[in-house]
Amino acid sequence: MADNRDKATDQMKIWMQKRSSQRPDQLTTGAGHPIGDKLNLLTAGARGPLLVQDVVFTDEMAHFDRERIPERVVHAKGAGAFGYFEVTHNITGYCKAKVFEHVGKVTPIAVRFSTVAGESGSADTVRDPRGFAVKFYTDEGNWDLTGNNTPVFFIKDAMLFPSFIHTQKRNPQTHMKDPDMVWDFWSLRPESLHQVSFLFSDRGLPDGFRHMNGYGSHTFKLVNADGELVYCKFHYKTDQGIKNMSVEEADRLVSTNPDYAIGDLFNAIANGNFPSWTFYIQVMTFKQAEEFQFNPFDLTKVWSHKEYPLIPVGKLVLNRNPVNYFAEVEQLAFDPSNMPPGIEASPDKMLQARLFSYPDTHRHRLGANYLQIPVNCPYRARVANYQRDGPMCMFDNQGGAPNYYPNSFSAPDTQLQFVESKFQVSPNVARYNSDDEDNVTQVRTFFTQVLNEEERQRLCQNMAGALKGAQLFIQKRMVETLKAVHEDYANRVQSLLNKYNTEAQKNNIHVYSRPTLSNM
Ligand code: NDP
Repeated sequence: MADNRDKATDQMKIWMQKRSSQRPDQLTTGAGHPIGDKLNLLTAGARGPLLVQDVVFTDEMAHFDRERIPERVVHAKGAGAFGYFEVTHNITGYCKAKVFEHVGKVTPIAVRFSTVAGESGSADTVRDPRGFAVKFYTDEGNWDLTGNNTPVFFIKDAMLFPSFIHTQKRNPQTHMKDPDMVWDFWSLRPESLHQVSFLFSDRGLPDGFRHMNGYGSHTFKLVNADGELVYCKFHYKTDQGIKNMSVEEADRLVSTNPDYAIGDLFNAIANGNFPSWTFYIQVMTFKQAEEFQFNPFDLTKVWSHKEYPLIPVGKLVLNRNPVNYFAEVEQLAFDPSNMPPGIEASPDKMLQARLFSYPDTHRHRLGANYLQIPVNCPYRARVANYQRDGPMCMFDNQGGAPNYYPNSFSAPDTQLQFVESKFQVSPNVARYNSDDEDNVTQVRTFFTQVLNEEERQRLCQNMAGALKGAQLFIQKRMVETLKAVHEDYANRVQSLLNKYNTEAQKNNIHVYSRPTLSNM
């Protein structure tokens, strides 16, 4: 056995060295009764049968049968860590939230990184956006920024979300990943082009979780102590520097080290090499929002850094690994509707839908009292409300305090200073089609001005390498969509497809490799 293994691999050795001497070594049942024999069933005779009175066995077996909770429908595979957020610059002129109260203020955080489409056991190094969700345990309740490593998303209208995710998951009959589903949807919805172009660029294969940026992506509102409002976007830029993987390396790791990103984060923190990100905001006034050339609440668009420069705010630092994965990461539940006073939702339709969907899915996965689970509990604020009971109520259920409101017994009351900001809405109620907005200008800028020649070529190769798996009519429609961005983008992808399609015909290939590896 090697003596120079990494800290993640050596977890049990390290645990044994560090374990508390107070911890009893006596084995017990779940109810705490000492167990005398944990190797042999209680049976009538050496050859059986088993007795129902073997409660040592039934206690363990019945619990084992219930070990799995539903995995997250998206972002199922992930890693988590803990640390702190420290304010380095004063933004109280924009926001009254206590988390930004003064320079030097420190707030504990939990962070979860993830892939999006794969199951809980899938490989880390697949081409997929990465989730980058941050929970700030603030004095005014938890604030969750449920971001990604890209500033934009595939769609802007949440009505499409379940369908979009279905295309990234498994075919309903074959239970395999399906390139037709993926590219059919993307080629039918041109607003996905911006994110698809990011995805097939080098940043679609980040080297672990430490070397990528995070973005709150949505537009939010900030409110200051005078009640003045601005719109805002959040950015967290890696201090480790951007580092991506080659397709070949990512493919190799899928089979040799499918938990590469989890291990990389765990070992970095265990070795005292704490990863950090510099936290920025972009700010837009309401007047600027009215005059902005794009819809400022469109999740498929960015706000130009030149017009809306990044304003530094603080640092996110991760310095503690989870003590137990299930308790602290699998049960870690983020919810964009967790916003302290001073941070509010914008009209962004995707954000509005997530305000409902995230807590809804946690109630399904973890139960109605999921906010009482220690890792989700807003432990730096004192929860006082009129909610009671429900499954797995962990604490004193607020004792004898009245459980109705209003009441005459000095139970917790509302406080006017925390009322949300007012805003005007007077348009017609309708199902507005956002499909016909400008979906190409920012993608064109990305293709022609952000990427250099080698990066452009790799983007086209990566895209064609995945698109070749779809039927010809879908390939054609996708190339037509690219043409609207830039002739060169479309021509490069088409000529690579021509090469692949000729090769496939010559070699009688019916199905290219399934999009499970780094090309999708
Ligand atoms: P800027 O030149 O000021 O910003 C360009 C941005 O692109 C930087 O944030 C940079 O991130 C990021 N970037 C650089 N290389 C890549 C890459 N290979 N893949 C993905 N992102 C990359 O211009 P604008 O703000 O006017 O934006 C121009 C275009 O840049 C946009 O249309 C959009 O496509 C893209 N972009 C813009 C972002 C924004 O928030 N404004 C964020 C990310 C992309 P970094 O500094 O971390 O290297």
